[in-house]
Amino acid sequence: MKKDLRFYPSRQPPSSLTQETLKFVPTQARGLWVRNDYKFVPSVFGILDRLSTTERRERREYSLDWWTDTALYYYDSLLVSAYYGMEKWDFREFYKIPRKNFLFVSDSGGWQVVTQSVKIEPIDLLKWMEHNADFGLTLDVPPVDPISKKTYLDDQFEGFKKTAELSRRNYEIMHRHWKENDFQLLKVIHGVGPRQLDYWYRQVEDLEFSGLAFSPHPPSEQNIAILLAYGRDKGAKKVHIFTGTGIETTPIVIYGRKYFDQLTYDSSAFSTQGAALRAYFVPYDLGQKILFGKSYNSTLKQLPCNCPVCQLATVDDLNSPGSVPGGLIALHNLWVYLMYCVFLDSITESKDIFIEYLRRNNLTETIKAVRFLDLSEEVGFYDAYNRIYKAGGQDVSNLFP
Ligand SMILES: [Zn+2]
Repeated sequence: MKKDLRFYPSRQPPSSLTQETLKFVPTQARGLWVRNDYKFVPSVFGILDRLSTTERRERREYSLDWWTDTALYYYDSLLVSAYYGMEKWDFREFYKIPRKNFLFVSDSGGWQVVTQSVKIEPIDLLKWMEHNADFGLTLDVPPVDPISKKTYLDDQFEGFKKTAELSRRNYEIMHRHWKENDFQLLKVIHGVGPRQLDYWYRQVEDLEFSGLAFSPHPPSEQNIAILLAYGRDKGAKKVHIFTGTGIETTPIVIYGRKYFDQLTYDSSAFSTQGAALRAYFVPYDLGQKILFGKSYNSTLKQLPCNCPVCQLATVDDLNSPGSVPGGLIALHNLWVYLMYCVFLDSITESKDIFIEYLRRNNLTETIKAVRFLDLSEEVGFYDAYNRIYKAGGQDVSNLFP
């Protein structure tokens, strides 16, 4: 597919967000990241409502909702946890989420069931997903210790087994009521390392769904690579994975897209860090953040970025009170992250440039993960795991020619 490249105008004179005369023509980013085989899906969780309502109250010219046609810029996908979404039956219409040429994903809400002690019925969830989303995830009981609220480690196997068995019950109910031809439902598999992964996988192996979904605990280079190789080993064609927006982990996901017909990955870091902490991603170095609001400690004269948000907003805008600044920072963060994805999208096609980039940035764990993926293609998932990641695995960071 030919990319729909657009050039953005150079920086406009600083303009305050409170200046009512300002008119902004939305930047259409549609097409810039449209590929058939993989897609980053920004996750909004609880701030969706806040973004929308503040926009309506304080700012009419353009919207902070990147899926609407009055947005500061347009991006064509969104993930919401069903726990938040199910409050509104016509969620998609209510928030004006497009039906066409758009990817709306529903997370299961399993995480909120465990951490916030709420209850979700598998049938209600499935009906809501089918009504609203383009695809959804099965209702898992995440492997979390109910007392410490921490994920079970590899050696905490008894607690882990119980959550896999409880999840099976939910998956069975959803499988029975699922209209397979109309709606994609991906089967959530949990686990760190082959022993846990295999146990969970076998618990639900007979229940066939559209593909697999994974949630690495935590989303490290190693854990993400293990899950991608595992999905490939099990022959999954469609995979969804929670990844975060790490500069170290995103290269693995984009490199691993070649294994699947459809790979989607989500993160809410851009919005939670942006909206809650006013942490502004530094362009060209996502690891660095500039804090605005109360924690602002700088004498910046202009924003160090030329994205559609920063062309309009000023340093003062991002430091002003209220919730709009947080929303603007979240949108800036999303843009900066998407640009990183565009960069990786290109360089992962060229192994030499890709590895050189990782090396120069000292991303040694990322290089190891890439080597693990390559090795798993040659010798299979289990052998590659034993050689590289099992305790005492070899140092492979210098194995690339
Ligand atoms: Zn920006």
